[in-house]
Amino acid sequence: MIDPATASAVIDWSAYRHNLTVLADHVAPATLMAVVKADGYGHGMVEAARQARAAGVTWLGVAVAGEALTLRAQGDRGRLMCWLYGPQEDFTGLVGAEVDLSVSSLAELDRIAAAARSLGRKARVHLKVDSGLSRNGCPVEQWPELCRAAAARTGEVEVVAVWTHLAAAEEPDHPSVPAQLTTFDQAFALAREHGLSPIRHVANSAAAMILPQARYELVRVGIAGYGIDPGVGVADRAGIALAPVMTLRAALVNVKRIPAGAGVSYGHTWIAPRDTVVGLVPLGYADGIVRAAGNRASVVVNDREVPLVGRVCMDQCVVDLGPDSRDRVGDPVVMFGQQGRAVNDFAADCDTIGYEIVTRIGSRVPRVAQVAGSVEVSRDE
Ligand SMILES: *Cc1c(COP(=O)(O)O)cnc(C)c1O
Repeated sequence: MIDPATASAVIDWSAYRHNLTVLADHVAPATLMAVVKADGYGHGMVEAARQARAAGVTWLGVAVAGEALTLRAQGDRGRLMCWLYGPQEDFTGLVGAEVDLSVSSLAELDRIAAAARSLGRKARVHLKVDSGLSRNGCPVEQWPELCRAAAARTGEVEVVAVWTHLAAAEEPDHPSVPAQLTTFDQAFALAREHGLSPIRHVANSAAAMILPQARYELVRVGIAGYGIDPGVGVADRAGIALAPVMTLRAALVNVKRIPAGAGVSYGHTWIAPRDTVVGLVPLGYADGIVRAAGNRASVVVNDREVPLVGRVCMDQCVVDLGPDSRDRVGDPVVMFGQQGRAVNDFAADCDTIGYEIVTRIGSRVPRVAQVAGSVEVSRDE
């Protein structure tokens, strides 16, 4: 673990709670599920879950079984859903822990029903239809059969919801949006015809924010809770101001003058065009500063934007502080976040999206909770 004074991801949980509250108001009367998969999008899953509950969130969502079981082991007792399994997944632990389970196929339904039977209890399931993403979910041709099978197993499964996921929610005019909603509505009608009375959920952050017709009874909000716009202009269009939750910061650990013509970092892909001052940042690609950031991204040092020059290394990278630099060892670097650039801007420099940047912050970067101006190292994980 890096010393938090050297580099850390500072997490403003009050901003997270604020974003969730604003988003919950925005989608009402639909209910908000806070998605905390992938270690709470890199912010810390267990603490994200706790904070979401403290903000009044009734549903949590995760991708994989291990995430759901970790939350249960840490004491979370609220509604919790997971949706991605391996071919060998053991469902008894999940059913026993009262985790709501997505079902994308008859095979999954059978295995979940068998687990429920072995425990002598009912599993709560959410039938997922593939309405056009072609990722997970039951193909529409097999949907009637899945509904029939689920309806025939009322002793073992309770069908809580039908659901799907959109391909292009952040582009509200994309033709896939109405096409997927139409397919979904038909799938829901079919479930009703089989005697099921599920709720519906479709929307991710972008849809929850800008597609009211996709909100139904429940929305699954991940990225926006963390204060990151799910797409260019989505938050503006929704009239929502999201507060950044993660700030990736570091201290300069070396500052030196180099002459014009000096090469910087591996391969000398950057040659100082003039005498200048470079600063060493103790974060590299092992910490989530993607290699593509080299010679493309900029960060903030002492309140001014400076470029990352040369290749990003595993543990460190270099900034050009300019010939007039008066920066010193120990001065603050904000890679992105509060008092820095938006993570989406940093991500765009690197040809990626904010989602990928925050979820790839490495495990040796301490997550430090920001508490009303001061900071506190997180101890719970
Ligand atoms: C990750 C995920 C979400 C959350 O998406 P955001 O864009 O982060 O809001 C919702 N639903 C499913 C199925 C997901 O995998």
